[in-house]
Parts: sequence; C-alpha cells; structure tokens
Amino acid sequence: MTNHKILLLNQSYQPLSAIGLKKYIKLEIKGKIETLHYSNVCIYSGKDAWQLPSVIRLSGPIFTKSFQAKYSKKGLHARDNYTCAYCGKRFKEKDLTVDHIVPRSKGGITSWMNCITACRKCNAYKADFTIEETKMYMRFKPFVPTSAILHDCANYRNNKDWVMYLNPEKFSTSNV
Ligand SMILES: [Zn+2]
Repeated sequence: MTNHKILLLNQSYQPLSAIGLKKYIKLEIKGKIETLHYSNVCIYSGKDAWQLPSVIRLSGPIFTKSFQAKYSKKGLHARDNYTCAYCGKRFKEKDLTVDHIVPRSKGGITSWMNCITACRKCNAYKADFTIEETKMYMRFKPFVPTSAILHDCANYRNNKDWVMYLNPEKFSTSNV
C-alpha cells in the first residue's frame, strides 16, 4: 500500500482533509467524487495500472461548519505559515507573536479574523495602533481556516496541485 495522500475538497473547493488510499477508494466506489488533478503515482492490480488522483472534490453538498478550526495561537502561526504579516519574514514559532489587527484597547477581539502573525519587532512597532495609524501594510489577509489547513495539509504546502486550494486568499468567514 502506498502512503500517497489525496487532498479532499468540498463542493466549494475548500480543503477538508488529506486522505489516504482506503478512504479515497470508498468515496470512488460510492461515486461521490470528481478528480481535479492526477498525481504521477500508480497502483497496479494484475495487468491494470490505476493512476491516483492528487486532488479530488466531493460532488455533493456537505455541511462545512464542523471543519472550521478552533482558534488557537499555535493554529494562528500555522495558518500564517510562520510568517510575519508586516515584514514578510519567516520566524521560529517562539519568536512570533499574535497581533490584534484592531487592538484590544480599541475593542478588538481575539479571533481568526482579527488576529494575525507578527514578529516581535513589527508587533512592538504597531503597539496599540491600528494599521491606518501606523501606515503599516499586511502582506496577507486573515481568514478562518479549516482544520485540514492546519493539520492534515500542513506538510503539503509545496505540492503544486494543492497549493492553489490551500491559498489563504481563497477563504473568508463568509464561505467557511
Ligand atoms: Zn515582522
């Protein structure tokens, strides 16, 4: 058995999970999926070769709210790929902080949409100001991640077939 992983998307092209061969075959037999990209991994059964997909999509609707990840600081840094939203540099997790986009002193809450990853230097500079006040620029936008993005897919950010579906720009609270 191969340990090949397949990215499973819901009907709205949001990543739900990275699934293995067994789960894929179950979905395939039920006729519930559509293949969006093929991988170059094949499995063989006698004389037949079967090319495995890289990305599949569910053909029916599914309630996605339960796939929404619960907010955590650790999750926030993973969502932002350990990158400071202001200077754009990658840091070790211990050197990262949580920036409240609307500062807590101005009523900003701790949530996926109001928090973003910042390095210590950028966070200290932004302090209790808003982005407008400091004239800082966010290189990427906050979004509510599915747990797939944080956990199952974290090691696959460089997979060329997957990357477009794992791109934060595609997501917002309205469609998760
Ligand atoms: Zn920074």
